[in-house]
Amino acid sequence: MRLSYSAISTYETCPAKYKFQYEDRLPTGGSPALTFGDSLHRVLHRFHDRPVPVAPTLPEMHEMLEGEWRTDGYRDDGEERLYRDHAWQVLSEYHRVNAESFRIPAALEFRFTVEVEGVAMNGVIDRMDRIPGGGYEIIDYKTNRRLPPKAVVDRDLQLSIYFLAAKEIWGIEPERLTLYFLLPGERMTTFRTSADVDDLRRRIATVAERIEAGKFEPRQNPLCDWCDFQRQCPLYRHKFEKEEGDPAPRMSETVDEWIALKREDWERYRRLEDLKALINAFCEEHGYRRLFGTDGSAIDRRPQHVTAPDIERVRQILEPLGLWEQVLTVDPKKLSDLIESRRLPPHVEDALLASREEVRTQYALYLKDPARSRR
Ligand code: SF4
Repeated sequence: MRLSYSAISTYETCPAKYKFQYEDRLPTGGSPALTFGDSLHRVLHRFHDRPVPVAPTLPEMHEMLEGEWRTDGYRDDGEERLYRDHAWQVLSEYHRVNAESFRIPAALEFRFTVEVEGVAMNGVIDRMDRIPGGGYEIIDYKTNRRLPPKAVVDRDLQLSIYFLAAKEIWGIEPERLTLYFLLPGERMTTFRTSADVDDLRRRIATVAERIEAGKFEPRQNPLCDWCDFQRQCPLYRHKFEKEEGDPAPRMSETVDEWIALKREDWERYRRLEDLKALINAFCEEHGYRRLFGTDGSAIDRRPQHVTAPDIERVRQILEPLGLWEQVLTVDPKKLSDLIESRRLPPHVEDALLASREEVRTQYALYLKDPARSRR
């Protein structure tokens, strides 16, 4: 099996999407972000690909942009112009920060394949530098607009794979692993330990086992709205059937009514929360326990104490009495979260799923409202 960072990341986000993209090889549409990122990567490759440790001048760098600029993926000429202007600025800033300290990289756009747990892992390292004073730094360019939290960078799958590749191919453990966010012009640097590499191996093996077992269930996620495979996705079947002629118009009326009522619920909930805050503030200020309405009914204000047991202390009290086992229970929610985390080997996941006795299946209905998420 051959995998890459994007294949694993796609599988972990949505196994069905992985199948459509990597197994069925269905075509994907371009996007401005992809084309823009690719153009910047090409320019930076040329910028660093020098026989002598002298950076190209800024006009030379802008000339590279003209040569490497891709025009596909944009809605129209206006959008393309905006992106090109932005690329111009981003590269100017990159030049300002990097030209003076320019060094010839130890590796540039290095394509690799390493075997991990029986899986051929492919990838491309954007750049690897020697750190003055010793050691190596792997750098990957990113074109995200915003910086992720540091904890996300510390767990970044791509950097872990590059670290492992450097170890396997060159026998080195890079001291620094850096994501260079070109748009804000910020670097975020992290490192990996051998325990991280063990985690990575397990993660790759888990994904590979799931793929081999044919586990390709769709998984709703925040990127669904931009997914190229909605037409093939079981979650979107009704949407596309409706577009070709509503198979059950009466049912659509029911759906619309449910959606309208759900929205009213939200409005009421929001208003209730606003009123609650006002009432609580008023009672705090004037010392009221109860506020009366005009028809005699009242709002009772009761304190709710949220407590959490100190598990160790409870254990010390109950264990000598032989009662500790009686308060130990499996939390079904936590168990479901663990199963859905997709970190368990498939046989463990299957065993846990089989261990749950199904009393009955009930379905909750949630409203996915584009109007609400835009607010
Ligand atoms: S639309 Fe969402 S659930 Fe369906 S394949 Fe795409 S990412 Fe997966």
